Amino acid sequence: MAKRILVVEDEANIVRTVRLYIEKAGFEVDWATDGTQGLAAFRRNNPTLVLLDLNLPGKLDGLDVCRTLRSESNIPIIMLTARSEETDRLIGLELGADDYITKPFSPREVVARIRTVLRRIEQPDVVLESLEVADIKINLGSRIATISGKPIELTRMEFDLLAALMRSPGRVFSRAHLLEHVLDTPFYEGYERTIDQHVKNLRQKLEPGPRQPKYILTVRGVGYKIVDG
Ligand code: CA
Repeated sequence: MAKRILVVEDEANIVRTVRLYIEKAGFEVDWATDGTQGLAAFRRNNPTLVLLDLNLPGKLDGLDVCRTLRSESNIPIIMLTARSEETDRLIGLELGADDYITKPFSPREVVARIRTVLRRIEQPDVVLESLEVADIKINLGSRIATISGKPIELTRMEFDLLAALMRSPGRVFSRAHLLEHVLDTPFYEGYERTIDQHVKNLRQKLEPGPRQPKYILTVRGVGYKIVDG
């Protein structure tokens, strides 16, 4: 059965082009022009992924939709944003969106990103393995993370990022490396902020004092590492 992509976007010409390419790539496409319709289509049609415009007409904007989707499911969300919406974009990532694409974009890029996000969630962890750094434990098979025995809720990207750091405690990872090898996103100028946002989210969930992290440390001018606290 073809996978279904839900596009929530009010600009008909964008949808027309994107739809053509997504269908050519073998997906089915649903289209909603505002947030209310988008949520209804999500609940009705059980899509595999949502492409979500941030700037939507009507009562619910893209961030409202993102928040509601996240409260109901783990569905991958790729946000479509304008350059001027940077703050919103960061909020979106904070709310648990998986990725974003900045307008204007090429439809090919959209298809590539959809494939990347789907690949990332479909990769089975072949070896069941757990990792431990200080009080943090993760199980790569069940994808459960705990701190001092208490489970913590992580988004897919947060989990993958944490797992990468925990595989090599003390090793400094550059943002570019984390983007390309962990989040499987090509490195573009400005995208490092995506990593910063995910790290910020992780710290909020893991660190006793997120402003003075003791596990995930920033290495100035380079990137991040995890240490034993
Ligand atoms: Ca719009």
